[in-house]
Amino acid sequence: MSRFIYADNAATTRMSKNACEAMVRFMSVDFANASQPYSFARAPKKAIKEARKIIADCIGAEPEEIYFTSCGTESDNWVIKSTKSNIITSSIEHHAVLNSCKAAAGYGRNTIYLPVTNEGLVESKDLDNNLDDTVGLVSVMFANNEIGTVQHIKDLAEIAHRSNILFHTDAVQAVGHVDINVKNIDVDFLSASAHKFNGPKGIGFLYIKNGIKLSPLIDGGSQELGHRAGTENVAAIVAMAIALKDNCDAISANSQYLRRLETLLIERLDNAQIDFKRNGINQLPGNISLSFRNTSGEALLHRLDLMGICVSTGSACDSKDTQISHVLKAINLEEDYALGTIRISLCKDNTEEEIRIIADALIKILT
Ligand code: PLP
Repeated sequence: MSRFIYADNAATTRMSKNACEAMVRFMSVDFANASQPYSFARAPKKAIKEARKIIADCIGAEPEEIYFTSCGTESDNWVIKSTKSNIITSSIEHHAVLNSCKAAAGYGRNTIYLPVTNEGLVESKDLDNNLDDTVGLVSVMFANNEIGTVQHIKDLAEIAHRSNILFHTDAVQAVGHVDINVKNIDVDFLSASAHKFNGPKGIGFLYIKNGIKLSPLIDGGSQELGHRAGTENVAAIVAMAIALKDNCDAISANSQYLRRLETLLIERLDNAQIDFKRNGINQLPGNISLSFRNTSGEALLHRLDLMGICVSTGSACDSKDTQISHVLKAINLEEDYALGTIRISLCKDNTEEEIRIIADALIKILT
């Protein structure tokens, strides 16, 4: 048993046993370079093909629409930096999108940052009002990494398409945790990352709808149909597919369980009359962003750490930044709450006993 209670699954997840086992096989037994013509390369070549099909099936795509990348950040960079015209995004995107947009400004693309409601939702009217013929891409995240809000992606994609504008969604937090069918929501691009759904770090994918061309971000060999060069990370690709399939098969059971854990935590804090707000709406299962009045989120994180409990103050990539995050600013959270924000992100391995320990630890610190 771990000596830590791990409640930071939005930062990264533990790799599943099935994914670990598959990874070891393709690193130590079937380790050949999948591009080689000899028979020894057949197993890795076949495994990549099967993994692409498994991943495609999990999100309702065709296998040839899945491109393997090194992570969610790369997938986001690829879409944003390949865009030849202006971009519309939201003000609460992950820095993988925000900083790619900033970089795109260097080669003459402007970005409009849409506001969000106090719950973190992008409103259709704001997107509609900002569309014009200089815009070539709309990028709105599927679910926010700090506050968990899940957007109405289908509606937003439909609005962009009415003006013949391509639509990308950064679904790094959502894939494997909520049902996603790219044909139903009708997006053109979707970014995902394996380490957020019990797969390995350093592997992700980008869904690119059939018929849409993106210029490569990484040039070199002919892997990924010449669109993303570099010898395939077979072990990670196979492990990602296994982890995603296992998660997708259990989405409904997992989310029901996680909702129960959420309720348990909130009720325990309420019963102790702790002054806090829960951020977001229609949150990802297990994503609990709490803002405690007149306290410091950073101090809370360190006090919890001393008690063996791992949480985050905001997004993992922001952990060196002790200021109020761009997301909490965008939802207009009052400063006396915003400064006291922590993100508890649970997974199916967390137990009710752990939730009681987390709640009681918070109560002890705050009273
Ligand atoms: N997008 C979102 C919404 C994220 O939460 C993250 C990681 O926290 C990323 C992109 C970056 O993904 P990766 O760590 O695979 O680069």
